Amino acid sequence: MSAITAPRGTRDILPQESWKWSFIVNSAAETMKNFGFSEIHLPIFEHTELFSRGVGETTDIVEKEMYTFNDRGGRSITLRPEATAGVMRAAIENNLCAQGASVKLWNWGPMFRHERPQKGRYRQFYQIDAECLGIADAMADVEVIALSIELFRRLGLKNLEVVINSVGCEKCRPVYRQKLVEYFTAHIDELCPTCVDRLGRNPLRILDCKNESCGHAADGAPDIFDSLCDECREHFEKVRGGLERLGFNYTLSKRLVRGLDYYTKTAYEILSGDLGAQNAVAGGGRYDNLSKAIGGGKIPGVGFACGLDRVALVMEEQGCSFGKRPGTSVYCVALDEESRGDVQVLTHKLRMSGLSAECDTSGRGFKSQMRSAGACKFACIIGNDERKSGTVAVKNLSDGEQVSIPIEEAVTFINEKLKNSETLV
Ligand code: AMP
Repeated sequence: MSAITAPRGTRDILPQESWKWSFIVNSAAETMKNFGFSEIHLPIFEHTELFSRGVGETTDIVEKEMYTFNDRGGRSITLRPEATAGVMRAAIENNLCAQGASVKLWNWGPMFRHERPQKGRYRQFYQIDAECLGIADAMADVEVIALSIELFRRLGLKNLEVVINSVGCEKCRPVYRQKLVEYFTAHIDELCPTCVDRLGRNPLRILDCKNESCGHAADGAPDIFDSLCDECREHFEKVRGGLERLGFNYTLSKRLVRGLDYYTKTAYEILSGDLGAQNAVAGGGRYDNLSKAIGGGKIPGVGFACGLDRVALVMEEQGCSFGKRPGTSVYCVALDEESRGDVQVLTHKLRMSGLSAECDTSGRGFKSQMRSAGACKFACIIGNDERKSGTVAVKNLSDGEQVSIPIEEAVTFINEKLKNSETLV
């Protein structure tokens, strides 16, 4: 029988990588806290309707990328392809925005899309997501964009480009949509089969098609800025002004429309010059109609999601620091078989005091245990003599100095030593 492997488009994040992910998530958690966002934990699966109504029936995600199945009770369930709809559902269900209240929420975890896997694109991928619900003012858009930029600044990412656009609202988008249909109908010969199909259903998506000929046609397409209503135009100017006040550079792109129907007004992406085709490290924008689409009241919202897999990739490629890989500080070594029990007790006490301590549990000999201790700061050695005298030999592995101390003082002694060595560093 052949061995079972992970499904296509999924992968294991092994220890040599997972500590780097922890660094990114911890850094995000700190940034979120500084910006006043609280963490929310959401279900990984939701009713399919949440996404078909929220994300939009004619989007690529809903049409062809969702992992949808009937559960044993016959309900249609979908593994979440994105987080925003779930956050909004939770806010409505738990009355987080009742009487015009606002709330800022963040979360991180796996998302699922049946896409063609390639570098930086997986079927199970991870997002760090932040949503600000209940505020219609453009200052909230600026805050969310600033949050994502600040996150990447802290992670040390370079060579990023912030691209923004306005996709209008329910008042002005139909007018623009009509202009696009007319324009692309006249250029139908230049469109790929997918875009010909999009023409009647979701013509805005033609604008961000990666196909060269579609791109060429899209370059000449009417500009959405000329179709924006006064409210959307003013909102967009405010966002731009806010970004400029904060000193951020950005590029305007009329071709940035994003793949989810719920966006209104601001849409933005942060692109990396080091990712190849899948170059977006984060994307987001405003979604003032999402709440109504999923059966809630009027709750405006703005947010972003950043691709954790891609951020880790770019950081690796750019040689960014992930901080120090967590290691073991103390290794407890048994000189003989009889000391193994005492060694385990000491290791446990060191762990209870908050230190990372390790001991052999597989019966390896002294030399082999000392080899494992090599990467640690201290080795605590117990043998026959130590057991008899109630002591432990503590060896500083960086300078080789060894002292014998009463076993009941070992935990305090090592904690003190480590504290001192850390202040020295
Ligand atoms: P979206 O939800 O499509 O706006 O995507 C937000 C961010 O999630 C993107 O900018 C990417 O960084 C990341 N992302 C989206 N889809 C994938 C995928 N299939 N694999 C890895 N990362 C993804």
